[in-house]
Amino acid sequence: MRYAVNFPGGTVQYVFGSFSESLPGLIPGQAVLIADQNVTGLYPSLLKEYTIAQVPPREEQKSLAVVGTLTEQLLTQQVHRKTFLVGVGGGVITDLTGFLASIYMRGVSFGFVPTTLLAMVDAAIGGKNGVNIGGHKNFVGTISQPKFILFDTQFLKTLPDAEWSNGFAEVIKYACLFDKTLFEELELRDINYYRQNEMALSKLIKRCVELKNIVVVGDERDTGLRKLLNFGHTAGHAFETLHQLPHGHAVALGMLIACRVSEDEAGLDKTVIQRLKKLLQQYELPVQLAYDTDSVVNILKMDKKRNEQAVDYIVLREVGKAAIKTISFEVIQKALESYE
Ligand code: ADP
Ligand code: ZN
Repeated sequence: MRYAVNFPGGTVQYVFGSFSESLPGLIPGQAVLIADQNVTGLYPSLLKEYTIAQVPPREEQKSLAVVGTLTEQLLTQQVHRKTFLVGVGGGVITDLTGFLASIYMRGVSFGFVPTTLLAMVDAAIGGKNGVNIGGHKNFVGTISQPKFILFDTQFLKTLPDAEWSNGFAEVIKYACLFDKTLFEELELRDINYYRQNEMALSKLIKRCVELKNIVVVGDERDTGLRKLLNFGHTAGHAFETLHQLPHGHAVALGMLIACRVSEDEAGLDKTVIQRLKKLLQQYELPVQLAYDTDSVVNILKMDKKRNEQAVDYIVLREVGKAAIKTISFEVIQKALESYE
């Protein structure tokens, strides 16, 4: 399956198929693949025909220092303006590749082969890329679209358990925001079901890609509609920073706090938070955290960088229906205190 999506910043080919069969047709001339050592180690025969620029694994690789080292590596590999860069890996690699390709010689064409569930349903889509500066996530970056995204679910066979639940946090997020039917389907399944059922997994990924694309096409530069995708990410980011949680764990807890806020501010039925808790547990995500409310709120205030008393916050009216609302820190504080 294959289709094109027209973003204001360019047209992206979405290709669902096999890496070895589909990739050659997507790269017109010379190409260099950017991948981390985990992926090159796991897939040597698949990658052997390509020139690889390799980076060590881990989130710390999303830094300007690594952009510098990679740039020099590309120079020695004689990467020129017509060379295609292809990021093969998780969200760290796709973010890094997109950013590097946008600035290398003022921009070269690039494509992505996401190899984690999170990258397939979220990180690789939408054109945002960038690197971290100190503790500030994605602090420098650009919005530029890849020429293609190639989805090959075969890569997920080697994905560690923890990465599956991380990805499912974003899948559950889409269901909460936009798709009641998807929420109900997820309630009937669990991680193992999708790991063992390629057809169902593939369908699930396609649906999430479709949902994210609808939002991004309407608001590529993140001035309105795209903010909906921050559901669970406000308190989530604070939890991530304070407790060094994996992104998906932090988002899971953030979505629960957002539901608590939504009960008072958007008329969300009290049964939803119970359903969401059960669902998150089914996908091996946490529903409890011993946090200090004041520290969490302080981080939220720092994130704003200005002396504002409120934030744009994503609330749920019901499962599958979300809204952006201005919510005061006081209300968030109360939700954090009353969540149990
Ligand atoms: P995310 O996509 O969640 O942002 P990362 O880019 O941080 O994740 O990747 C998570 C980890 O999974 C990294 O250590 C990466 O090397 C590893 N990884 C990526 N793809 C695969 C795969 N298909 N199989 C096994 N490990 C993988
Ligand atoms: Zn996220």
